[in-house]
Formats: sequence, C-alpha cells, structure tokens
Amino acid sequence: MKILLKGGRIVDPSQGLDQAADLLLEDGKVVALAPDLAEEDARVLPCEGLIVCPGLIDLHVHFREPGEEWKETIATGSLAAVAGGFTAVACMPNTRPPNDNAEVTRYILKKAQEAGLCRVWPVACITKGQKGEQLTEFGELKEAGAVAVSDDGRPVPEAAVMRLALEYAKNFDLPVISHAEELSLSRGGHVNEGLASARLGLRGIPAQGEAIAIFREVMLAELTGSPVHIAHVSTRSGVEIIRRAKEAGLSVTAETAPHYFSLTEEATFGYHTNAKVNPPLRSEEDRRAIEEALRDGTIDAIATDHAPHSPLEKFCEFERAAFGLIGLETALPLALHLVERGIISLPRLVELLSCAPARILKLPGGSLREGSPADVTVFDPEARWVVTEEELHSKSKNSPFLGWEMRGRAVYTIVGGRVVFSRRELLS
Ligand SMILES: [Zn+2]
Repeated sequence: MKILLKGGRIVDPSQGLDQAADLLLEDGKVVALAPDLAEEDARVLPCEGLIVCPGLIDLHVHFREPGEEWKETIATGSLAAVAGGFTAVACMPNTRPPNDNAEVTRYILKKAQEAGLCRVWPVACITKGQKGEQLTEFGELKEAGAVAVSDDGRPVPEAAVMRLALEYAKNFDLPVISHAEELSLSRGGHVNEGLASARLGLRGIPAQGEAIAIFREVMLAELTGSPVHIAHVSTRSGVEIIRRAKEAGLSVTAETAPHYFSLTEEATFGYHTNAKVNPPLRSEEDRRAIEEALRDGTIDAIATDHAPHSPLEKFCEFERAAFGLIGLETALPLALHLVERGIISLPRLVELLSCAPARILKLPGGSLREGSPADVTVFDPEARWVVTEEELHSKSKNSPFLGWEMRGRAVYTIVGGRVVFSRRELLS
C-alpha cells in the first residue's frame, strides 16, 4: 500500500526541514520526501494548505482500562487520540488494577492492537500497587512491552525508594517519569493556594510543593547519574529548578500540559469541576513562566495528561469532584495558539509534540526521515471549530474548553502507513 501526500508544507525539525514537498509512504515506512513526487499506483492525499509533520506523540494519557471503562477504554481513547492528530500515546499505569505486572502490560497492548488506531505504549508502575514501597519487576515489565515506569497519579513519597528506582531503571534503560508532588503540602487541597483557595474557600495546593518535589528528583538524578523526566510541570518555581538543573548538565527532561499555558486558576472560580486538575491550574505568573519555558527549551515536551472522568465524578460539589480533564482533541489547537501569538515557532511546536516525546521515551517516530515509521500527522492550522461534546470522540466530556472556538485541527492521521483518521471522509 502506497500513500502519496501531495503539496503540503513539511515541517520536520528532526531534519531541520520546513518546506513545500511531497511525501511517499510504502509498507509502513517513509520512502521518499521531495518536491513533485509522482507515483501512479499510490493513494493520493491532497495536502495543499496543510502542514505535514512527524506523527504527534502524547507522553501522558490515562485510558482507564482495565477497571474504569465507563470513563474511557483503550479503543475510545485511541479514537480521541487519532482525532486529535496523535499517532502514539503513552498510557499511565494508575488503572484498576494498576499496571504493576507483565499481565496488565500485555492486556493493554492486546486491547490497543484490537482497537487498531494509534500506537499505545504502556508505562508501568514504579512500585507495586503504587504504594511507594516495593519496586516492581522492571525487567519483566520491559520485556512485556512497558516503555517507562512511573507511579503517576501519586508521587513516590520516599526519596530512598525513588533513588533505588532510578538506579534499577538504569540497568534496563527504562525512562523514569516523576509525578512531582509533596503530599504533606498538597494533601486535602483542591485548587491552587492563593487566589483560588481564598476565593473559593477551599484548601489550597501550594506551588512550592511541586518545586520541592522537582528539586528532590533533580538531586536524585545527580546522585544516581540516571535521567529523570518530570511530568506536568505547572509552576514558575518548578520551571526555575529545571532550568538550573539543565544548566548544571543534569539529565532532566520535563513536560507541561496545554491547560497550564492556556488557563489560570481563574477557570476554577465558580466551582467549575472540569477545571479541577492535579497539579491545579496556577496563577498568571506561573502560566507565563510555562510559556517562557516552552520557548527557551527548559520544558522539552507538551503532553496532555488526558484524564477522562464521567459525570458521576464531575457533576458534584467541587470538593468531591475527581481531579483531571481530557485533552487529546484540544492539545494541537491550544499549542497552535502559542504559534499564533509568536511565543513559539511551528517547528518548535512539532518538536514539543513529536520529536521530543519520541526522544524522551526512546520510541520510534518523531521523524520523517527515509526509513522511519510512516506515522504522520497532517493538520490544517487555519481550520476553525468550536469544542462541543458532540465534536469530541473521547467517552468522557470533562473538558474546560467546551464552548471555546479553536483554530487548527488534524485532517489526516496516519499510523504505520495506514490512514486511521480522515476528517475529510468524516465530512463527506
Ligand atoms: Zn501525574
């Protein structure tokens, strides 16, 4: 099966490319990239006016299967991913049961294969049951298909356990993803400590708690010589610690989520439960620091932290509502908004959403070089659309962006040389 993408603007930072060209895919691989390619027996996808880039990779999603299939399944999550332009996602282990053994890892991969849409890379637990005590079997988990370890959803409370995890992970070349949260400061909190906690009369989660936890991970990276990846950075103080760690040559990478550069704690005023997320939405000063970190490279990647919840967990008092919001179908336009505002360039956006995630988790993809997997995202940076429940493919609709007008949307999502999502066919 050959696919020829005709007349698009190819943006591929892995090769320093930003030019008009055609792209030919065959047998699941990129085989040619050049102007005016002709191929008679190929399926032609017209890409005039569209951006063609390496498939977007989301380092951080929660697909709720096994155990909470009423919120999202691997199949519905995969559909939301490809509709949002993602060709691959890494799914976090806080399912029920958690992904702390090879059986669960293999189950996730089987479900992903049955869904047959995006690539799903399982992230396994650092500790058994995510209890923060006993390490899981990293070797067995890697062999079963886990690409990283994390106790995401919870931090690893003890520094000594995290130290062991970093040392152990090095033997298996497994990236370690840290959910950086100082529980003794955040416990019982619902919103950012500051304006939001004062206004809503709820217990706050201080920014400094995140910074303290990030500092610990950075020090452990120094102590062990192992790389560490910091998930969902939300604060100015967290960014500053990562910036200084990088300047000191430490092996630390970081991601943030679109809601941390698109929203502030004001979104929670009025007790809007769809804006309840952990870490919480922060101050305007924090939001600006995140933008600057995306621009200057302190933050390496954008990940959604897609966290579906049903009305059961969200249509209730703020204090009882679950943390988390969905993000797979709004990430691309929210990132494009940074381009529109001149904060980052389009190649930098592709770096943040594709090349860097591939590098951090050592995944195939993130490039349109000849011989690379034929994972390609084609998007229209000008397409205007309004976020409504009906437009979203995710099983859950807990988005704080409902009603927003967005600019930019995936048109074709191609995984392994197969068009798994086409908005043009959807429309016709
Ligand atoms: Zn987390």
